[in-house]
Amino acid sequence: MILVNENFSKLQASYLFSEIAKRVRAYQEATPDAAIIRLGIGDVTLPLAPACLEAMHRAVDELGHSATFRGYGPEQGYAFLREAIAQNDYQARGCDIAPDEIFVSDGSKCDCANIQELFAGEGLRIAIPDPVYPVYVDTNVMAGRTGPARDGRYDGLVYLEGTAANGFVPAPPAEPVDLIYLCFPNNPTGAVATREQLQAWVDYARANKALILFDAAYEAFIRDPAIPHSIYEIPGARDCAIEFRSFSKKAGFTGVRCAFTVVPKGLLAYAKDGTAVPLHPMWNRRHTTKFNGVSYPVQRAAEAVYSADGACQTTQQVDYYLGNAKLIRAGIRALGLDCVGGDNSPYVWVNVRGDSWAFFDRLLHAAQVVTTPGAGFGKCGEGYIRISAFNDRAKVQEAMGRIAQAL
Ligand SMILES: *Cc1c(COP(=O)(O)O)cnc(C)c1O
Repeated sequence: MILVNENFSKLQASYLFSEIAKRVRAYQEATPDAAIIRLGIGDVTLPLAPACLEAMHRAVDELGHSATFRGYGPEQGYAFLREAIAQNDYQARGCDIAPDEIFVSDGSKCDCANIQELFAGEGLRIAIPDPVYPVYVDTNVMAGRTGPARDGRYDGLVYLEGTAANGFVPAPPAEPVDLIYLCFPNNPTGAVATREQLQAWVDYARANKALILFDAAYEAFIRDPAIPHSIYEIPGARDCAIEFRSFSKKAGFTGVRCAFTVVPKGLLAYAKDGTAVPLHPMWNRRHTTKFNGVSYPVQRAAEAVYSADGACQTTQQVDYYLGNAKLIRAGIRALGLDCVGGDNSPYVWVNVRGDSWAFFDRLLHAAQVVTTPGAGFGKCGEGYIRISAFNDRAKVQEAMGRIAQAL
């Protein structure tokens, strides 16, 4: 008899975005003339930068000629891309990261889920921020690393609470944990962590022989020069952290698919008897066994993000979204509501002083604007909504005007 993975049945209700889609569909069916503006799901809207598009076209043409055709590439990514990443994203910021510590993949969502395969199946104490990108919790539930859900939280997880009181940047817990997820700039709050706050996490991880999984998907949105872009800007991080980066938000690659994971050589985990085991060869083994590489045209497009033209064009795209975020922040503050985020992040996190799904419904029905209820990101998200800056400027202006009218 084929037995199922019963951990799936522990998962809570529906995935956040499918519930939103359901409510929006129901509203659209009931009011077919409503012109809905979507400031909900975190997906980019601007077309690919010309430099990326041209690089992709050239690469596609190469595949059409026998002299330049390529089949399987290196599973870890082509040297041209790994070198461009190491140099531009790390060495240029003083981070000691080498090309062969970079593993190119088709997405950070899969990487931050797949990395769990390197760790013990049970007995790990796992700390996850609340609120945060739901993928960290849900993938640990599927993998059987939690108990059942009770009152919106899973047994066995340590929740790192992000609240107005700590500026949505949780400090290390009093108790020891083994695996720590951090996401800065944060999805959904838009909060960024200072050098001192990240240093406290690195010190904690080293003292506890713990590992930090640092998701820097929104790194490109950081404009404050004092805020670190990478965990490896923090002394000691090479000994205790894996970093995830993606071209999805940085260069509009959500549909193109390209990301990477950094695993420093010398980063250690431990066998039950205390023997130290390096993670780099393990991740290399896992990646090469289960993945056959990102397509050549996509890697050439990603490489072009680091060209002079590509860097300029993709920075302009991010600036455009940050301009939207500024409008959203100003509009929300003008209504007398408190919000954070939006200055180093595409997300504005709004304190709605009440039920987040009720406020979501109110904005949908009264302003035809789709946002994301904070409760979908964790218990601490209750009372907040996330407004995304990923949309056309004119639509953002229209949405903020409608919200001002409706509230
Ligand atoms: C969008 C996003 C990602 C990127 O995922 P991809 O699979 O690379 O598109 C990763 N982490 C967070 C927190 C995100 O919001």
